[in-house]
Amino acid sequence: MGETILENKFFSAKRVTGTAIKIAGMGGENCYLVEGSERALLIDGLCGVGSLKAFVRELTDKPVTMAATHGHIDHIGAAWEYGELFIQPDDIPLMYTKAHSGREARLGFAKFGAGPDAVHRTEPTLRDVPPAGPVKTYPVYDGDIFDLGGVQLEVIQVPGHTYGTIVLLNRAERVIFSGDACNANTLLSLQGSTSIEEYLESLHHLHEYMDAFDGMLGGHGDGLVPKSIVDDAIAMCGRIIDRTDEKVPVTTIDGNPALLASSRGADYLLSCIGKTASTGGRARSSRENRIFTGDGKLWRRSEKQFSFFMAG
Ligand SMILES: [Zn+2]
Repeated sequence: MGETILENKFFSAKRVTGTAIKIAGMGGENCYLVEGSERALLIDGLCGVGSLKAFVRELTDKPVTMAATHGHIDHIGAAWEYGELFIQPDDIPLMYTKAHSGREARLGFAKFGAGPDAVHRTEPTLRDVPPAGPVKTYPVYDGDIFDLGGVQLEVIQVPGHTYGTIVLLNRAERVIFSGDACNANTLLSLQGSTSIEEYLESLHHLHEYMDAFDGMLGGHGDGLVPKSIVDDAIAMCGRIIDRTDEKVPVTTIDGNPALLASSRGADYLLSCIGKTASTGGRARSSRENRIFTGDGKLWRRSEKQFSFFMAG
């Protein structure tokens, strides 16, 4: 989809819609720059290795506002450079954890996020990683609209991958910027993920917008994901709740055990750990027993478990 319009050692940009440019980072992660007549919105900020802010400055002369689809390391990296961020507040504690803000963690994502065999145009070092610092956060909620001047982006909350996950709908271009909300490989196994039941509720909410878009541009991978993935994910959640999914044991990238709801076929992969739904999302065995596999809502009540230190 589109030719490369700008590239440096860290980033690569190409136009994906009339108003949107996709910027890919070294770790296989994507963000999107959407431009209106008045201003531009940077949807997500990659993992924060190399200066995305300087790269974006080459792509637009408009004032740039940053919004994050969620608080993960590979989506908020540029927030540390911009110092201001629109984000659904449930993910604010998450973004400040060392795992998502630390310089070593971000460097590690740039090096290995795209897989051990990825070829990079430079070998990044800690010198390429701007330190994290305080970020002025502005809350966004379901129904909020970013008006960029002739271009409007509508916020839809889709808790699942994280509690604070949002997607952004451009009705005029019939496209959703989906982050990690609903992809071919949707991870619900992470610190801060919801239960399957809550995710299913979110998918039904997203489904209410099905007439308004044709496909989704995600935080990883290439191309427009057809909107039928929402129906597939709803069906998959149903199978997980009915315990008729494939439950393929896997080890995640962070070394934790997880279950794949489907290993192949027409179904897209949903990875779920400790979220086997008929127990109300409660961990059932030691294999699934992780801190945040309780009732899910624990996350929102437990902010004090997180130190707001800045990794340096
Ligand atoms: Zn994520």
